[in-house]
Amino acid sequence: MVQTMIAYSSLNRFNALPMMNRHADNTLPQRAIIRYHYRIRWLGLLALFFTGCVRPDPLPPAIITPVPRTEHIIGYSVQTRPIKVITLGSGEDITLFIATIHGNEWAGTPLLNELLRYLRGHNEMLGDRKIVLIPVANPDGYMLSQRGNAHGVDLNRNFPADNRIDSRRHGLQALSEPEAQALLAFIEQLQPDRIISIHQPLACIDYDGPAEALAQCMTSACDLPIRKLGAYPGSLGAYAGEELNIPIITMELHRNDHTLSRDELWRRYGPCLLAAIAFEETLAK
Ligand SMILES: [Zn+2]
Repeated sequence: MVQTMIAYSSLNRFNALPMMNRHADNTLPQRAIIRYHYRIRWLGLLALFFTGCVRPDPLPPAIITPVPRTEHIIGYSVQTRPIKVITLGSGEDITLFIATIHGNEWAGTPLLNELLRYLRGHNEMLGDRKIVLIPVANPDGYMLSQRGNAHGVDLNRNFPADNRIDSRRHGLQALSEPEAQALLAFIEQLQPDRIISIHQPLACIDYDGPAEALAQCMTSACDLPIRKLGAYPGSLGAYAGEELNIPIITMELHRNDHTLSRDELWRRYGPCLLAAIAFEETLAK
């Protein structure tokens, strides 16, 4: 029906010029033109009546078919900002990237946007994989340019790991903060094969859980050395790595990496992220 209406309105547009002019100068040739246009219009309406619709010419095929992505919200911050998740692919091998859980360490956010841009043009990276991105895990901290959320709680100390310490800075109890609740519920439901959480400024690759080989794989693709920082109390690394046994990398970028252009960020760290995505395949070789 909509198509019928569109087609009908385009017929009217086609007739607009003679309809406007018909009282202005009705000379014989112009009247003939007007009759001709009316005939076309009626024929068009008859065609619509009998066929039900007129399909427009098909669009030319797109040169690049971007990899489809889905986007959804897993929860909201203290100040009700959404925590967005972008998913590409539907395979069984799942890599989860998280950026900016510390709001003032936000170089990972443009880096993940670059990763998304790259993946959308590279179908071959998907295969049997699902790649999941959380570009801003702490949206209030990101907007306020501060480490913690709007309560001033460090979200990366708010997970229910054995080594957690209750405090105002870490939250008076585990999962006191809506952002940490949303992240943990999502991770437990997703059950990723590996997690890469991007921070600044320690310039290294740290890991928790069974992630030593993954750390080796990633360090060989960038200038960040492996350094074991130890499990911080109540951190995502401590909980996901030690309690859930999920390989988790804490990828610490350099202090000033947020000042780099997106191109430069991608040049320095893109291969490292792609190495993490392709890790299972690397192992199989
Ligand atoms: Zn951090």
